[in-house]
Amino acid sequence: MSEALPHWLDDVEVRFVHPYQAVKAYLCPHCNRNIPSGTGHVVVVPREAPDLRRHWHKGCWQLTDRQKSARSRTAGG
Ligand SMILES: [Zn+2]
Repeated sequence: MSEALPHWLDDVEVRFVHPYQAVKAYLCPHCNRNIPSGTGHVVVVPREAPDLRRHWHKGCWQLTDRQKSARSRTAGG
């Protein structure tokens, strides 16, 4: 499986979902595992395409976030 991220991940709004707000189960696009209802997680909303919003495990999102900051650190001084 490729590590490449869709380009829209560069401009997204991330919303935290508290356990009491998670009334449905979702599928995490990063690990393809279930996010059970009642689990705190994040919703990632592309600003360009809000319809493509996806629910991620908090840990999975932090992994990609680390990749992004590593990339920008390389670009910076
Ligand atoms: Zn996940």
